Formats: sequence, C-alpha cells, structure tokens
Amino acid sequence: MELSFILNELGEERENYFNAVSPPIIQSSNFTFKTVTDLRQAMADEFETNLYSRGQNPTLNILRKKLAALDGAEDALIFSSGIGAISVPLLSLLNTGDHIIAIENPYSWTLKLFKEFLPKFGIHTTFIDGADFVNFEGAVKPETRLIYLESPNTFSYELQDIKKIAGFARSRGIITMIDNSYCSPIYQQPISMGIDLVAQSATKYIGGHSDVVAGVLTGSKQLIKQIFDHEFMNLGPAISPHSAWLLLRGLRTLPLRLQRSFESTKIVTQWLNDQPAIQQVIWPFCAKFKQTQLAHEQMQGCGGLFSFTLNNTSFKKIETFCNRLQHILLAVSWGGHESLILPSTASITEDEYVITNERHQLIRMYVGLEDPQYLINDLQQALAAI
Ligand SMILES: *Cc1c(COP(=O)(O)O)cnc(C)c1O
Repeated sequence: MELSFILNELGEERENYFNAVSPPIIQSSNFTFKTVTDLRQAMADEFETNLYSRGQNPTLNILRKKLAALDGAEDALIFSSGIGAISVPLLSLLNTGDHIIAIENPYSWTLKLFKEFLPKFGIHTTFIDGADFVNFEGAVKPETRLIYLESPNTFSYELQDIKKIAGFARSRGIITMIDNSYCSPIYQQPISMGIDLVAQSATKYIGGHSDVVAGVLTGSKQLIKQIFDHEFMNLGPAISPHSAWLLLRGLRTLPLRLQRSFESTKIVTQWLNDQPAIQQVIWPFCAKFKQTQLAHEQMQGCGGLFSFTLNNTSFKKIETFCNRLQHILLAVSWGGHESLILPSTASITEDEYVITNERHQLIRMYVGLEDPQYLINDLQQALAAI
C-alpha cells in the first residue's frame, strides 16, 4: 500500500460524515442498536463492532487501519500509553513459569516491568547483550516463550539483527516482540523481517506535537484479537476519541517531520563531531557508530535522537552545559516539534556518579523541527561556558 494512500485516505469514509475532509471526533462512550438481536450480535464480538468505547470507536478505527497498514501488519491495537502497549500484551501472552529473553538496556519502565512486575506472576527474564546473536542461542530454555527486542534503544542505540533473531525464534515457536519507537514504521519495518508483535510509543513521532500520550501494538489479527478480547478489555487501557484524533492529525505529517529531523540531525551530529570539547557522538547513522552496517541494512533512515559525551567530563560540567542551553529544552520524551536535552545524570545523584561509567556521561539530545543552525548556535554558546 502506498504511504500517501495510507496517510490521506485509508479508513476514511467521508460520505458518512458530511464529506468532511478531517474526520469527526466521535466523542461517545456507547452506541445504540435497533433490535435486541443486533445488540446481542455486537456484544458477542466487540472486536469488530462499535459497542462501547473501552473497546472500539469509529475515530479510533480510522487510526487503527492506518497504523496497521503503516507497519505492514494485519491489525493494530491503540493504547493510552506506549508502556501500556508493551505491558498488556506481555500479561496476555505469558503464563506463570514462562521465560523471557530481553535485551539488557530497554526503556526504563520496560526494565521495571521485567525486573519487578512480571516476577510477581512467576515470569522471569534473562537479560543479554543483544548485539551478539550467539547470546540469544545461549539464553534459550525449554520454557522460553518470548524474545523482547528494542532496536535501536533510545539512550545508547545498540541494535539487534532483527531478521536473524526472528528466524531463530520462529523455528523454535518463540514469540518475538520489538519496541520500534526509535525508528517508527517510516524507518523500520519489523513485521516484514519476521517479528510477531511491534510496539511503539505513539507519544513520540506519531503524535509529534508533545500533546498526547498513547501507544500502538501491531501484529497478526489472531494475536491482536486474543489480546483485545481478554487483557485489553479487562485492564482498560483505551485512549479517548479526542486523543485518537490528535494522532490522526499527527500522522498526516509523519514522514515530513521525520525527514526534517533526520536531515537536521546529520548536520548537528557532524558539527558536534568536529568540536574539540566533544568526546564522542553516538547515533546509528554516524560513520563511527559500532553497528553502522547493520543499521543501514535494516533501517531506511534514522531518527533525531542521539547521545554524546563531553571530554574530561564531570557531573558538574555536564550540568553546567545543560543548564546553559537557552533554546534546547531540558525535558524527558522526544519526537515532538521541539528539541530536547536529557543528561543521564538527571536520574542519579552526584554521589552515585561514577566518572569512568560511560552510561553516566551520556547526554541525550533530540533534534526537533527548528533550523539546525539555531540549535548549533545554542550548543556552541553552552559549550563555551564549560
Ligand atoms: C517513551 C517510550 C516508551 C513509553 O511510551 P509512553 O508513551 O511514554 O508510555 C517506550 N519505549 C520507548 C523506547 C520510549 O521512548
């Protein structure tokens, strides 16, 4: 399916709503039926019917079709947060005694899910360095039910060989799931590489305007329906029709925004690489990146998120630099219109800072839609202060 068709037409039935170009927000919790027979039919299959907006809703359904098509998947489920799109399917597909193999540095709340939440249900995880395929073979147990990937991750950008791992898992009947937030469907297509379930924080690129929190899960109709019919309906992570509408609006400009962010990041990372005050820049499409070949094999482009470290850095030096920025905002999240900075030191105290720990030194930057020279000028004046 062509990208332009998905973003502009798929799922939209304008004749049903006054030929409005922009779809309506069907802000209704429930839907009415003419006869008890019709109602009974709807109640018997909430997955396919607009019955109650904790399940399906017409505004959501436009979005659902577009998001499934963008991933090249049969179906999609939309959640009230990205972490909901990760935790609910895991709770649905795993049982007590099941084992997970996961990459070692996933998103912080995903890590807490594996380390603190799932063990309460007797589900245990082995963490491995996912950059080396042999680690997956080495970690498999008879009770391994799921392999969890995040490629690249969003602080240190390690990649996994998606096709190879998906093939390995499939041959053993193990389900594969990936967090594809970094690339979005525009720059990486895990379903076409054999992955079963693709999760994504729609708060980031899909929303794109820093005004909605949401998540997406795509996969086969069978898996998506199984998750919907039980845990999705029981745990209640549905988003509001208004939030769904904001995501639809975000989708219209998704490729444009990503392209802009990608191009600007090339310019900003190149400039940083040339600065004597900078020790290293970590971005999958940088020439010096450790897995640059794999990055170009499985990613069609690269997002605007990267990390860098300062030379001879200290806790104070990192913080002085970040505090001095005047336009680049100090905040969590990314994927919006605005450029952001997030030092690793924001999650530790000065006493916990280990000067030789490279992860502690990382400063993460997200390049938004501003003029790249505007961002470089801001970085330059903050570097001058240290
Ligand atoms: C933000 C993020 C999430 C969580 O998404 P929310 O929408 O904040 O719940 C998950 N994975 C990655 C990689 C993220 O950046």
